[in-house]
Formats: sequence, C-alpha cells, structure tokens
Amino acid sequence: MLTCTGFAAASPTTPLAPITFNRRDVGADDVQIEILYCGVCHSDLHFARDEWHFTVYPAVPGHEIIGRVTSVGAGVSKYKVGEYVGVGCMVDSCRTCPSCVEGLEQYCDKGNVGTYGGTEPVIGGPTFGGYSSSIVVDQSFVLRIPEGMDLASTAPLLCAGITLYSPLKHWGAGPGKKVGIIGLGGLGHMGVKLSHAMGAQTVLFTTSPGKVEDGKKLGAEQVVISKDAAQMAAHTESFDLIIDTVSASHDLTPYFNLLKREGTMVQVGAPEHPLPIAVFPLIMKRRNFAGSMIGGIAETQEMLDFCAARNITADVEIIPIQKINEAYERMLKSDVKYRFSIDMASLTA
Ligand code: NAP
Ligand code: ZN
Ligand code: ZN
Repeated sequence: MLTCTGFAAASPTTPLAPITFNRRDVGADDVQIEILYCGVCHSDLHFARDEWHFTVYPAVPGHEIIGRVTSVGAGVSKYKVGEYVGVGCMVDSCRTCPSCVEGLEQYCDKGNVGTYGGTEPVIGGPTFGGYSSSIVVDQSFVLRIPEGMDLASTAPLLCAGITLYSPLKHWGAGPGKKVGIIGLGGLGHMGVKLSHAMGAQTVLFTTSPGKVEDGKKLGAEQVVISKDAAQMAAHTESFDLIIDTVSASHDLTPYFNLLKREGTMVQVGAPEHPLPIAVFPLIMKRRNFAGSMIGGIAETQEMLDFCAARNITADVEIIPIQKINEAYERMLKSDVKYRFSIDMASLTA
C-alpha cells in the first residue's frame, strides 16, 4: 500500500488536521497522481461536518483535484508520467448498467464510487479525497487537462464547473433562452460564466448587494437582489431555466413564479434540511422542478475542452492547506471570490 499525507476531520465538530493514511498500490489500469491543487467545494464542508449523514471518519474531503501523473499501471494507455490530469467527484462506477453505458456514471444504478465518502473498491474502507499528497484512480475516471490551462483556477471546474455545465446543456441553455442562476458562490459564478458563454441571456440572483458588479463582470446581463420583491416581480414568467446553487435552506416559491409556462427550475444546491415547496405555482403553469448531479466523465472532458477554448476558469483565492478551517468559516459567510483553491505544496511546507 501507498502512504499518503493529508488533512482530515476526525468528527463532525473537530477542525481538519494532518493525517497519514493508505491508498491502494497502482493497479494495471491505475494512474497515480501527485496532487498540486484542490478546490474547496461547499460539499466538502457538508461532508466533513456530516450534514448529509453518511460520513465515515476520519474524513478527507476534496473532489476538485488537479495533479501530475507520477506512475501508471501496465494497462494504462490514456495517460503518461508527467502529464497534468484532473479528478472530480467520482473515482469509479459499475460501468455496465444503462446509466454507465450512456456515459452517465454519476447516476450509476449501483451508485458511483465517490472520490471521498465512497467505498474503496480494492482495499476496502472509505475513499479519501484530494486534501492529500497523492491519489490512485482508474484511468477511465481521470480527466485530461488541456494544455496551457492555469492549474489552480482549473481545479474548481472538476466539480463546480461540471455541476453547472451539465444542467445548462441538458435543459438547452443557449441563444434565445433566458437563464437564471441563484447564488454567486463557487457553483454560481461558474454558472454565470458558462451560461453566458453558451449564449443564453443570463440573470444572477443574489442575496449579497456587494456582488452586483462582479455578477455583471462575470457575464450576467442583469443582477437581481432576491430579497427585493419589486426586482423579482420585474422578471415574472420570463425564464426558460433557473438553476439554484444555494447551500442553505431558503424559499423557492418566489422563483417558481419567474418561470415561463413549462419552464424548469433545477436544484443543484444540496442543503442539509428538506426544502418546503409550494406546489400551486408548479401546477398552475405546468412548470418543472428537477435536480441534477455533477456530470458524466465524457461530459466533464467536454466541459474542460469547452472552457479551455474560451479561456474560462474559476476565480480563485489560493490558500495553504493549513488555512482550510478558516476557509470553511469564510465560505459559510460567502466571503470568497469565488472559490478557494488549495496549493497542495503547502502540505510539506
Ligand atoms: P458556496 O460557494 O458556499 O456558494 C453558495 C452561495 O449560496 C453563496 O455564495 C450565497 O450566494 C448563497 N447563499 C448562501 N446561504 C444562503 C442563504 N441562507 N439564502 C440564500 N442564499 C444563500 O457553495 P458551492 O460550493 O457553490 O455549493 C453550493 C451547494 O451546491 C452546496 O450545497 C453543495 O453541496 C452543492 N453541490 C451540489 C452538487 C451537485 O452535483 N448537485 C455539486 C457540488 C456542490 P449569494 O451571496 O450570491 O446570495
Ligand atoms: Zn463539489
Ligand atoms: Zn453503473
């Protein structure tokens, strides 16, 4: 087995702290990756604090991973030592069910293997995420980082980027469509950039008046302060698609009323507690309320290539791993523009 170092939570209430743990040896189809940067997703915080009630401790979060290949198994044809690669939210799936065969591994009938919080398929025990020195992943779940991309700001594309790209594509964001993005955090700022790049008329909904100018710079034609009823009412029945990235419980009803007849509201934010839903706005206009989870491996590669071609990456604040607990507190206060990216060289500093 390989020995790794990283940062882990030991319980829902303890700060993340250094840990040494094992990963499987490099198998025939495996790629070993030295982790260079790892984005900090709000899911990492939900997971470290067991807000989704499935965390096994010690818990090593991190699923926006960029690194360099340091070794490959005998059967690996896709990657070579020295190349820059990425790993997102999944490291395996059954590969034979209808969802996997369609390239929708995230919806695998047997459940995908999460980069953290899953069950390690070879040595058992929990999978450990990217707040660590290295990772071993089957080549089929490794992404190619297009040449020239900035590594620290590309890391967040592996979760935040694909989580918005997939529903934008699926529900047809593009010219002639009006798309709303709720929340300007890690996911939301990628949503604004990607929706705009796809050619949709893009509107940002935010609770933070201080983010209006940034929202416009990132690609929103209009920015609506969601607590201002008059600003909201100005958009009644006008949206084809609204994507909700909010990490906390909040009232969705005002947004349903902004959808056109048969428009769709997609939930990607995953708050700890159930959301109350008023059904009449859905019934009255045959509106849809849907969910979406990350994206498949081929679609994630497509998203990386789309972003490389248009010079799109995340806006990041680079931090050493030792600042991770402070970063979590700041993320809870929406005090980050707009994603933390951990410089993993700090692990050995
Ligand atoms: P984040 O960076 O913390 O951003 C969340 C944003 O939501 C904040 O910046 C804030 O935007 C808004 N917000 C926060 N609290 C709010 C409240 N009480 N009421 C209204 N708005 C509030 O988080 P993230 O990393 O983007 O993740 C967002 C959520 O998506 C998390 O729950 C995460 O677990 C989930 N997620 C889901 C998937 C998936 O596949 N479905 C993938 C990744 C993450 P404003 O200041 O602009 O209002
Ligand atoms: Zn994530
Ligand atoms: Zn499957």
